[in-house]
Amino acid sequence: MYDLIIIGGGPAGLTAGMYAARSKLNVVMLEKMMPGGNVSITAEVENYPGIPNIGGPDLVMQMEKQARDFGLEIRSEEVLSIEVGAGTNGHSIKSDTNEYKTKSVLIASGSSPRRIGCQGEDEHIGRGVSYCATCDGAFFREKHIAVVGGGDSAVEEGLYLTKFAKRVTIIHRRDRLRADKIIQEKAIKHPKIDFIWDSVIEGIEGTPVVNNIKIKNLKSSEVTDFKVDGVFVFVGYIPGTDYVPGIVNKDEGGYIITDLEMRTNIPGIFAAGDIIAKKQRQIVTACGDAATAIKTIEHYNEWYYEDEQYL
Ligand code: NAP
Repeated sequence: MYDLIIIGGGPAGLTAGMYAARSKLNVVMLEKMMPGGNVSITAEVENYPGIPNIGGPDLVMQMEKQARDFGLEIRSEEVLSIEVGAGTNGHSIKSDTNEYKTKSVLIASGSSPRRIGCQGEDEHIGRGVSYCATCDGAFFREKHIAVVGGGDSAVEEGLYLTKFAKRVTIIHRRDRLRADKIIQEKAIKHPKIDFIWDSVIEGIEGTPVVNNIKIKNLKSSEVTDFKVDGVFVFVGYIPGTDYVPGIVNKDEGGYIITDLEMRTNIPGIFAAGDIIAKKQRQIVTACGDAATAIKTIEHYNEWYYEDEQYL
């Protein structure tokens, strides 16, 4: 019987792992890929307190090291299901290779990039369509790139892509950006960046690689051809909750509902980071959620056998 199983190894999972291992909980983290989550595909982070500027991969590597140094065990396993236990039996977790019993579960499996859903998108993934500027930006030296979206990701990653591209065109469905003002200003002033407003991509074309997109102006309904060499999509994220039992409350977007202490509606199941229903999804808020969750979990586990009323 574990004290805690952490599902997911992004900033929330790694912070939780560091806190839990430091508190000497009997804990293991299950992560289906490499630890790091979406931050490991983020080019630059300039709003993590105390570290003025760092690459996303470097930041999460340091988080992982810090957690491992406190004794966190990280296993490369994909969680397939959580079976909610009754009373003091604990919960069961099934992964692709193991089964576990645990007093508490922390769901910190984050979210994955949303697709636009237009014609030609899926066929061109890896052939000009990308969801990761750090992974694929260098393939677009001196090329013209379209970036889709108007949030922090689109604008930050668009700025990063100017290191390689000769021109970056940000296509946004409204006439104003949702991104933080400071990066909006940087993008608007940038000589390599231009914008197409009130527009969406209806089709992505080119054989075998992208060479054209069809852009629809939402005000006039006019559709025009636009020559580009690549399309980078940053239109938000969808929570990865396939394995989460239906009885765990979620909002209409599929995000897990927690209270301020990171409890879900099911005793012993907690959630933290980008997967929970909240407004602000930042690295630092994910880390904050995780620290709160571990303190709540420690308290929960302490009372677990002592007082079933707590359940
Ligand atoms: P986001 O804030 O949800 O923005 C998604 C953008 O894509 C919005 O501009 C949205 O348009 C647009 N969009 C959504 N669906 C679309 C579709 N089907 N077709 C075309 N456009 C579509 O997502 P994000 O930028 O990935 O950021 C996610 C979270 O991480 C946010 O909370 C963000 O603040 C945070 N984040 C923070 C930082 C940072 O602080 N450094 C960096 C990256 C991300 P509308 O504006 O019209 O809705």
